[in-house]
Amino acid sequence: MTTAPSVPAALYERAARLDADDALAPLRARFLLPPDVVYLDGNSLGPLPAAVPAALDDVVRRQWGTGLIGSWNADGWWEAPLRVGDTVGALIGAAPGQTVVGDSTSVQLFTALDAAAELRPDRPLLVTDPGHFPTDRYLADAVARRRGLEVRRVPPAALPRFLAAEGHRVAVVSYAPVDFRTGELYDMRTLTGAAHDVGALALWDLCHAAGALPLDVDALDVDLAVGCGYKFLSGGPGAPAFLYVAHRHHASLRTPLPGWTGHADPFGLADEYAPASGIARARIGTPPILSLLALEAALTAFDGVDLTQVRAKSLSLTDYFLRCADELLTPVGFTSVTPAEPGRRGSQVSLRHPHARALVVALAEHGVIADMRVPDLLRFGVNALYTSHRDLLTAALRLRDLTRRAAYDPAPPTVGPVT
Ligand SMILES: *Cc1c(COP(=O)(O)O)cnc(C)c1O
Repeated sequence: MTTAPSVPAALYERAARLDADDALAPLRARFLLPPDVVYLDGNSLGPLPAAVPAALDDVVRRQWGTGLIGSWNADGWWEAPLRVGDTVGALIGAAPGQTVVGDSTSVQLFTALDAAAELRPDRPLLVTDPGHFPTDRYLADAVARRRGLEVRRVPPAALPRFLAAEGHRVAVVSYAPVDFRTGELYDMRTLTGAAHDVGALALWDLCHAAGALPLDVDALDVDLAVGCGYKFLSGGPGAPAFLYVAHRHHASLRTPLPGWTGHADPFGLADEYAPASGIARARIGTPPILSLLALEAALTAFDGVDLTQVRAKSLSLTDYFLRCADELLTPVGFTSVTPAEPGRRGSQVSLRHPHARALVVALAEHGVIADMRVPDLLRFGVNALYTSHRDLLTAALRLRDLTRRAAYDPAPPTVGPVT
């Protein structure tokens, strides 16, 4: 007589061994994760870092409540966009003075795309990934429409060949190193080099990369980059996004939203706009101080953390989850769309199943939070700062059991936001 296969011993032992050897395991205490929840959606909304509640309480009660308007100076509110920018900069390989934080990723993208086009005024093409995140595609179209440019959609693998043929007409190439659907990782060095070989600028959207992998925007000569604060940086819902512009472009940088805080003399009340020097000219208006300072507190979760170790653990986690998927989930109808080669994947695994939405809803009811992308992808984001191999085994086992027992509503009510 056979009983239902329970926890496969080899997978269980492997998780136990990898977690026991994990030098980053203590970092989990830097996050306030609810007990009994396996959280695999930090690539959509990072969890609450332990440092944030007290920091926000101080910002609200003391700085705002008591210090009132004096806190713009006394508590460094005015400098916060550039100060937090430098902290993010350190995580993406940017020397100080090139990164500013404030506004949403979408606004930063519009700024970056338009400013890039302005830096290459004689070139009529914007090139972007047909599989890029929707906002990135919409904004490329909008900038092109306003400037009378043309958008070409070229998959990352085809970009070097496209540029070899048409590159002399290209102003900027706009890509993400990690595909938000499949988790595939593209080679920033190759694509940035291919753009520069033809005199085009390279703009990278680092939303799914910043805080997840070591990045080296300065060393790669990246021209501009943007990324959000609420995914791997765990800055909280709607956390402000960052914009990086390489030093060499600052003097000629003209942004489409030249607000007063980017003015050379913001309190001089001049009639005409004159841009501040350096990255400060990319500031727009009054920064969202509460969320900016929440992000600053959140970033202390990275204090003393080596991103090469983060990357090594992230690869161990995704490798382990791919094994779990192979053994436990492929037999019940899932297929992985994430590359198995470690050099070709970011910090997530995506599995295809026709009932993806229903399964994600049922999984959440069983304590495992993942997400889905239409029509049929389940996404499992890992974050080496708090995810364990054991978490992933739990997720795979619960998913297998729900699927095998068909214990889910095949047409669940539409779930909430899915960025
Ligand atoms: C998450 C994400 C965004 C989000 O843009 P918002 O303006 O913050 O909503 C944009 N681009 C990419 C590639 C993303 O992954």
